[in-house]
Amino acid sequence: MTESSIIPVFDGHNDVLLRLRRGSSNSVNAFLQGESAGHIDLPRARQGGLAGGLCAVFIPSPDQPRTENDDFPTPSQPDALNETLAMFRLLLAIEAQSNGAVKVCRSAADIRGSIADRRFAAVFHIEGAEAIAADLDALYVLHQAGLRTLGPVWSRPNVFAYGVPFRFRSTPDIGPGLSDAGKDLVRACNELRIMIDLSHMNEQGFWDIAKLSNAPLVASHSNAHAISPHSRNLTDKQLDAIRDTGGLVGINFGVLFLRDDGTRNADTPIELLVRHIAYIAERVGIEHVALGSDFDGTTIPQALGDAAGLPKLIDALRAHGFDDQAIRNIAHENWIRVLERSWGG
Ligand SMILES: [Zn+2]
Repeated sequence: MTESSIIPVFDGHNDVLLRLRRGSSNSVNAFLQGESAGHIDLPRARQGGLAGGLCAVFIPSPDQPRTENDDFPTPSQPDALNETLAMFRLLLAIEAQSNGAVKVCRSAADIRGSIADRRFAAVFHIEGAEAIAADLDALYVLHQAGLRTLGPVWSRPNVFAYGVPFRFRSTPDIGPGLSDAGKDLVRACNELRIMIDLSHMNEQGFWDIAKLSNAPLVASHSNAHAISPHSRNLTDKQLDAIRDTGGLVGINFGVLFLRDDGTRNADTPIELLVRHIAYIAERVGIEHVALGSDFDGTTIPQALGDAAGLPKLIDALRAHGFDDQAIRNIAHENWIRVLERSWGG
């Protein structure tokens, strides 16, 4: 075992629940015993040092997949709520049947304890709040069930805001900001200490939340627009605002958001991922950059492969010149600190 492989990674974004829901086999066993499909299961997480992360509940648009530049239709609230409950139940079933190998974490102490005990630390995250109606009833109930982080939108509109459409060579400044219901949602998340994820917000929505929210600004899986001019990536001004609130950016491994040519080409070097990390560290400080793989949600560099390949990223960070403390910050400490501040312990 190389030295790098023992640095645990806590990751800001994965879509393993979506992949498991779409699979035909027994989803719980597929995760606990492993399978060849996708990027994450428990054996590969252990092999690569993936200690846990934010497990997204994402409801695909009706009629997905479409071409990269199409706009995505929005699922209905009842459909989204039903599917959200099913996906969260799946995560709870994985925890219940894992003999202690998986823990649904509701506090920073839970995450630290799970990493120390080598339990996979899963956090219940919603990516696009279609399941929640403007009355916010479901928000309060889901919070009691374990919801700890929420992105108001995915890249499509809903009652709260306008997600940023996928556009290459485009700023994120596409469309209007938060609705009145969106402002209520932000206030309620602050009250409940649910982390607000800005990754799929358009730029106006980002600034509306920056103005309104009392929590650190976090983009769980987005990259540097200066390197890859995709509408999903963050401008320098947005990075500065994230720094000013003590927030962070989780670097997305998706080649669409890494490359400067906008192609879904898996033949993308791991060093390009390191370039985004180094750029953000240089601009706003190492304490504001972490990982947000998008495992099981998008096309990642072939050379990294899946969760078992994380030590290759750690090695590339070391080769770039990051020292052990910097690597621990990027790999897990920054995420745990920012979640602790967002959640109030
Ligand atoms: Zn996403």
